[in-house]
Amino acid sequence: MPPVSVMIKPASSGCNLRCAYCFYADEAALRGVPNYGIMSADTLETVVRTFLQAATGSCSFAFQGGEPTLAGLEFFRRVVQLQKKYARPGLVVSNALQTNGVLLDEEWCRFLAQENFLVGLSLDGVKDTHDLFRRTPADTGSYAAVLRAAQRLTAAKASFNILTVVTAPLAKNITKVYNFYKKNGWLYHQYIPCMDPLANERGGQPYSLTPAAYTEFLKRLFDLWYQDVSRGFLVSVRYFDNLMQILQGRAPESCAMTGQCNVQYLVESNGNVYPCDFYAMDEYYLGNICTDTVARLDAARTAMRFVEDSREKPAQCRECRWFGLCRGGCRRDYTGGADSHNYYCESYREFFEYAYPRLRQAALLLRGLYR
Ligand code: SF4
Ligand code: SF4
Repeated sequence: MPPVSVMIKPASSGCNLRCAYCFYADEAALRGVPNYGIMSADTLETVVRTFLQAATGSCSFAFQGGEPTLAGLEFFRRVVQLQKKYARPGLVVSNALQTNGVLLDEEWCRFLAQENFLVGLSLDGVKDTHDLFRRTPADTGSYAAVLRAAQRLTAAKASFNILTVVTAPLAKNITKVYNFYKKNGWLYHQYIPCMDPLANERGGQPYSLTPAAYTEFLKRLFDLWYQDVSRGFLVSVRYFDNLMQILQGRAPESCAMTGQCNVQYLVESNGNVYPCDFYAMDEYYLGNICTDTVARLDAARTAMRFVEDSREKPAQCRECRWFGLCRGGCRRDYTGGADSHNYYCESYREFFEYAYPRLRQAALLLRGLYR
């Protein structure tokens, strides 16, 4: 078996925030069981042992939620112990944690730094844009808590990047947001277009990101990024990093940009396995890691044609001059129905028309920087 990528939900869909646009809360609400609770010690041991034994080369574990830190620091200490116990010599094991930061005190941050976790901290820009949608159960903003977490992570010298959900208000304020991140020394950014609820038509929520708003966002963000790059100052923006990789003839790391879904294992807290974070729903159930072998999970994914069908692109992608760069994007952004296509297609086209000469220039300037 090749390198393995496992995503684990230690606290299922449980969370200590109530972000208005949470895609996982939306997805989980459509399941027979929305919340499977905290992962037990036995299930954790089975997950770690099984995937470490199955992997060759490397095995990456990404902990997500809901809010994964709700499982407690002892849970994560156990993760590291189990990895040391079961990893064969030479296997490269890595850990990542996606968190809202609310529970990250000094002890947590020291642990994350010591054990080399790559932390993704969810922050939606400045106070005004963040507090609009990232609310506590008492309906107060969570900005101050996230800022404290960023300060503690910095003090502990933990590696972290900022994950920002691009809502309509945030898109309008991208200049302010980008400069604010830079001023704080946060130079690793990931911007994810906000998703609308699965059951609703897109574009109807206060946070909804329309294709027109996303186009303007991409152009503005690119101008800011390119200005820095041309002055020799590199800010990592995951989408642009992936475009650089493609333009330099390398494989992009983001599955949304490879032209097909990748093989991954999304493990819910009771051991249920699904093919992707965006498809942790009953109809995509592959099996349970406590009772099924990895080969059986793989066979279920193949029978479902999860990866195979993702290679079939709509006619407009097959004929598109930008396909080599765009590759159609993530299937979760597809509109559905007979003429299904990427909801943000016009954003990508317009952005590439606008930025292509400078994208090529940046790829030359940044030669050798991406692997
Ligand atoms: S659905 Fe999107 S995120 Fe999931 S594997 Fe496919 S491309 Fe990646
Ligand atoms: S720009 Fe649109 S048509 Fe072209 S590859 Fe991307 S999603 Fe497909």
